[in-house]
Amino acid sequence: MTATLIDGKAFAAVIREKVATHVARIKEAQGVTPGLAVVLVGDDPASEVYVRSKGKQTVEAGMNSFEHKLPVDTTQEALLELIETLNADQSVHGILVQLPLPAHLDESLVINAIDPAKDVDGFHISNVGLLATGQKSMVPCTPLGCVMMLRDQLGDLSGKDAVVIGRSNIVGKPMAQLLLRESCTVTIAHSRTKDLPEVVKRADIVVAAVGRANFVQGDWIKPGATVIDVGINRIPAPERGEGKSRLVGDVDFAAAKEVAGAITPVPGGVGPMTIACLLANTLTACCRAHGLAEPDGLT
Ligand code: NAP
Repeated sequence: MTATLIDGKAFAAVIREKVATHVARIKEAQGVTPGLAVVLVGDDPASEVYVRSKGKQTVEAGMNSFEHKLPVDTTQEALLELIETLNADQSVHGILVQLPLPAHLDESLVINAIDPAKDVDGFHISNVGLLATGQKSMVPCTPLGCVMMLRDQLGDLSGKDAVVIGRSNIVGKPMAQLLLRESCTVTIAHSRTKDLPEVVKRADIVVAAVGRANFVQGDWIKPGATVIDVGINRIPAPERGEGKSRLVGDVDFAAAKEVAGAITPVPGGVGPMTIACLLANTLTACCRAHGLAEPDGLT
């Protein structure tokens, strides 16, 4: 069997288009423009690329983008002061602090200083609690993108056996909560899980968020299962020339695609969905702030 390829790049474009259409509508009807503020502390090149891309896509969707680049030696007080200002700014509906922060800054303190209603990353403790108790919340972008792709691919997810490999606060745990919200039977596996291949073999849905290149083997996958590969790992690629590298996921794609029913590639799977969901969350936050109807299918 060769699996259906779940094209995250194409699906992300559909989501961005949907967001842009709704943004144009509320601008026209309500005179409201959603605004996203992104805060970057320091000059980590990968974070800079990511922040630039977020800003560009925010503007392309018709929203306002506010970038705040702070020096690497920014104090905790100065950062918290900026967050207070953004919390109070009515033109800002979403606030994202690019992680990781430099080591002298307390990430939890900073994230929990964001107004939960503007916490478009969904990392604030209030949003974590709301999601865990099945209430309306802001949902972390990467797992939201994964569940959108699963719904698009499989329709109703209820009753399906889902295994999430990884229990991080940014991917694994919220992913499991979202699958539970969809009425899946959810197992969360991690580095202490016994007999991981057997656990994975039970799953109709496998979400791999491990951070280890080609870790999940093809013969762990139940025939016909849907595989979502969150991993982004850079490995050497001497075949591309000396010193070259390439990106691979957490799943051995070549082997898994012969067994799975559907699978996301890396790159071009989960990755592009993350920023699309950030735009969706900013729109959702704006609609909630102004008491407007939220577009369907974006939460
Ligand atoms: P993380 O915080 O390092 O968590 C990794 C998880 O994998 C941990 O829960 C760990 O278990 C588990 N794990 C490690 N080794 C394992 C093993 N041998 N068997 C079973 N489980 C094992 O990573 P993360 O932040 O969740 O990210 C995971 C991957 O997703 C990374 O490759 C990251 O780059 C990627 N990612 C992609 C996006 C995107 O937009 N596409 C966004 C975020 C992250 P323990 O808890 O027991 O240590």
